[in-house]
Amino acid sequence: MPNVAPSSSAPLSVAQTIHTACERHPALAPLIEHFSELYSIRAELIASLAEQLAKDTNCPVPVINEEKLQHGVPVLSDSNATWAASCYPKLKETVFVHLKNISSLESSITLFEQAIDTQQLSLESLFDALLNSNESMLQAQAKKANIEYAVFIFISQQMLSCLLSAYVHVHKETVQNIFWREAYCPVCGSFPDISILQRPDADQSEFLAGGGGKKMLHCSTCSHQWHFRRGTCPACNNDEAGAIHYFHVDGNTGERVEYCNSCNTYLNNIDLRNTTATPDLSVAPLTLIHLDMQAAQKQLTPLVRTLWNTF
Ligand SMILES: [Zn+2]
Ligand SMILES: [Zn+2]
Repeated sequence: MPNVAPSSSAPLSVAQTIHTACERHPALAPLIEHFSELYSIRAELIASLAEQLAKDTNCPVPVINEEKLQHGVPVLSDSNATWAASCYPKLKETVFVHLKNISSLESSITLFEQAIDTQQLSLESLFDALLNSNESMLQAQAKKANIEYAVFIFISQQMLSCLLSAYVHVHKETVQNIFWREAYCPVCGSFPDISILQRPDADQSEFLAGGGGKKMLHCSTCSHQWHFRRGTCPACNNDEAGAIHYFHVDGNTGERVEYCNSCNTYLNNIDLRNTTATPDLSVAPLTLIHLDMQAAQKQLTPLVRTLWNTF
């Protein structure tokens, strides 16, 4: 790439984020590249679905109910995802085709598709179960589809993540200013897969007051971002002074593991304050595998399990 610093206003694409990470950590490149195709396919699908949903008159604007939000109930907890049906064919043609090429998943994806096609499994009830973490309902659905539970959850999460990311992208104006104090997503209820310290110029008043960036959490499912208190543990809400500890790897101060001494849970963090390039945040957690490895060695538990952080 030419020696021109990317503009801070333009985030890197998925491919650029992966490329930069592989250059920075050549030893991890094979591992990162192993998942990169899935992320590129997902990013294309999400952009295409967002375009489709923006024109879809059956795709409702999320209903913001202040009282429910105050009680920590996410926006989509009781919504009816009828709009998801129109997205399913594109998901099948892209992400599912890719996953079928992974031999261990081929038969399960086929069974999943059959269950939807024969209406043994409805997208609406699946969304309902996922958004409300209704485990007994999910177990019953996996059994009906004849798919091993863990694999069923993986496939369902991939689907939910693509569709909700598109939905949230279309409705970002509606959801971006929700007032929320929880560590799980105000839109879909999932926990974050990364936190970000924003550049000071993103919030000048906070910069002047404390010299630091605002901490945002990035949803592991729908990619929504929300503000969270910097000194609080997102897993156990411990907010005593010094609750959050951190360490860097290889002297790279732009990336770190933040963990709680009380519950031993960690969440990786990207500090954007001394950088000009903003990574694509959906794939950024994948580029921090080296942090996950160190955290595993220190016997820390990830806040959310990903494809690669369970060693
Ligand atoms: Zn979310
Ligand atoms: Zn904790």
